[in-house]
Amino acid sequence: MSATVEERQAVQQALAAGQLTVPDPATGYHRSLAADCPADGHAASVWRVVRGPGHAITEVVMRCALCGNEFTPPLEALYLH
Ligand SMILES: [Zn+2]
Repeated sequence: MSATVEERQAVQQALAAGQLTVPDPATGYHRSLAADCPADGHAASVWRVVRGPGHAITEVVMRCALCGNEFTPPLEALYLH
């Protein structure tokens, strides 16, 4: 799955603000950051984060609920689930 330009921008803004969810202006629901597991393509959710100055998230470790794999995707690979 690939994110749209708008989603990528929303993800970048959320990371810079230290947030792991993005409110969807259309529905009001919060959407969570996700990345596909490299082993099986399952949408993995955030397991832990590394924060830089000003609480900005600089690294995200994901964990796949399907196979238990922990991985650190490039931030560009994150999308909204
Ligand atoms: Zn997996």
